[in-house]
Amino acid sequence: VNVVISLDYGGTAIKEGIVSERGKLLCFGQTPTGSTKFSQVANKLAARIKALQELAKERKNNAVACAIGSPGLISYDRKIIYTSPNFESRGDFNLYKALRARKVNLPIFIENDANVAALGEYWKGAGKGARCLILLTLGTGIGGGVVVDGKLWLGAHGMGGELGHVTVDPRGAKCGCGNYGCLEALASATAVVREFKKAIKSGEESGLAVSSEIGAKEIAEAARKGDVLAKEIFSKSGTYLGIALASMINEFDPDVIVLGGGMSPAFDLLESSMTRELNRRAFSKMVEKVKVIPAKLGNKAGIYGAAFLAFQKLSEV
Ligand SMILES: [Zn+2]
Repeated sequence: VNVVISLDYGGTAIKEGIVSERGKLLCFGQTPTGSTKFSQVANKLAARIKALQELAKERKNNAVACAIGSPGLISYDRKIIYTSPNFESRGDFNLYKALRARKVNLPIFIENDANVAALGEYWKGAGKGARCLILLTLGTGIGGGVVVDGKLWLGAHGMGGELGHVTVDPRGAKCGCGNYGCLEALASATAVVREFKKAIKSGEESGLAVSSEIGAKEIAEAARKGDVLAKEIFSKSGTYLGIALASMINEFDPDVIVLGGGMSPAFDLLESSMTRELNRRAFSKMVEKVKVIPAKLGNKAGIYGAAFLAFQKLSEV
């Protein structure tokens, strides 16, 4: 069978898989990224691609391409990573050229990580068959992707869909992108932890002790056990999320909005305040028709989506 070697890398891990044309994930693995230097990451990606190519060969599969989900803004020709806050780079990094220089001989497809996650959920996950799908990955940051009629919507220069950087509070916290009050700065896992610690510092009480180990997951658990402060923090995140989604609903009229990323298991804690804002702010005709649902593919969405994109691109040629 024809397969795509699929990789999805970020600041902490490189996920990898082999995906068949029908969408079967034939293997899946994860290795630490291990470096914040692009050249080192390229070394590792190239090595993993070759290893998976060998594995595919052993299994009598025909590897037709490799596909890579990458953080950051990507050039129109899908070769250069412009900005990615997790990596040191002096300016732009030509990932395509770097992989070619490291003797990767397959067709190479590079796409933004949230975009491939959106395609993955569209192909095999929570948004199967959607006509207009919006995906937000709620994690350390907030990524966004838009799929219209089965294709990524990329804007005029290939950089569109940065839905985590819509302003939801003009006087809000500073965002990694330089703006203030982005959705990412107010509703990401990072924001949840920051707000929780801030509240404790200012004297608010919680059953959960603050330590450096504490993450959004622990705060979510405390909220489920009835911790008032933890519940409040999630409710506030849900409010910001709802404000952002209400605008997106009015702008795009989607049929499905998928919420993925590390915060998606806390969907139940965000839902009521989020829904309140949707009903308050978006056109009811559109709110009635949209489904807002948690993602289904977990950390494998990008692997599926990158492969889908590669098969799609190859069939266009
Ligand atoms: Zn921002």
